[in-house]
Amino acid sequence: MNTAFQINDLECCYRAGRTVLHVPQLEIGKGKTVFLLGPSGIGKSTFIEAIGLMNDTMRDKAGTSVVFYDEKNGKRELKGSWKGDNDDLSHFRNRYYSFIFQHTNLMPNFTAGENMCISRLIRGVPLAEAREEVLATMEELKLEPDIFYKKTTHLSGGQRQRVAFVRAITAEFEVLFGDEPTGNLDKDTAFRLMTILKNNLERHHRTAIIVSHDLDLALHFADQIVLMTFTGENGERHGIIRPENVLENKGGNWHDVDGGLLKNPAFFVNERMKQ
Ligand code: ADP
Ligand code: MG
Repeated sequence: MNTAFQINDLECCYRAGRTVLHVPQLEIGKGKTVFLLGPSGIGKSTFIEAIGLMNDTMRDKAGTSVVFYDEKNGKRELKGSWKGDNDDLSHFRNRYYSFIFQHTNLMPNFTAGENMCISRLIRGVPLAEAREEVLATMEELKLEPDIFYKKTTHLSGGQRQRVAFVRAITAEFEVLFGDEPTGNLDKDTAFRLMTILKNNLERHHRTAIIVSHDLDLALHFADQIVLMTFTGENGERHGIIRPENVLENKGGNWHDVDGGLLKNPAFFVNERMKQ
């Protein structure tokens, strides 16, 4: 398996305070769709914001390493990213990463089109040309072409969610980070958006790390399910990703860390989440 991320002994904290999350060891395969599940407040957003380089929470420990491998197997150590050159960091994020959040984070004073095409506009592509490149995806998501020129404040919540989706999947990227991207959508719409997203990921051999509370969605679309549970190590209660709480989908069947077949993966997940 080609690797997208190799994580060793990652600990996250806010403002040099206590550890809120520990990841002893985790490998994320290139081109894989990973669903991250766990109770509220456990550190799911902290995790994707740390490796997504949105938030500087990685503890600077000697044993910590978070390596990203790009499509040509170029390596980048993400630990210490915030100490380096800011332009380099933005350039890296813009080139390799894309994000979808539950709360869409669209820029309110811009049109839907400017929002959807922002990464192209940054690269100097004219708006009319960028529009051509997103129209087909807009149509797939049942967005009328004329909303392109509307201010996002004039759109409905559902339209804004889909605009954010178009923005994320039509950008240039290798890794998509989704923080409850279908959180406020009904089940049918969530499945439809995930199907479109999954097609996009497979077509471009892209990796996705998606936080979700929806086990059905995870079992249906994920290649790997990563469960975050609480631990009380060092007298602190915080989230942890244990190797035995990572499930792999091989050809439609779910397996545990030792390769054992899970006949009832939903039961397995629910039991583990009770810990
Ligand atoms: P989840 O996404 O799983 O609901 P989070 O990653 O948001 O959980 O939060 C994990 C822990 O980190 C929680 O205890 C939360 O209170 C804490 N936390 C999150 N963001 C901050 C922040 N900006 N400053 C301080 N603590 C935070
Ligand atoms: Mg969260």
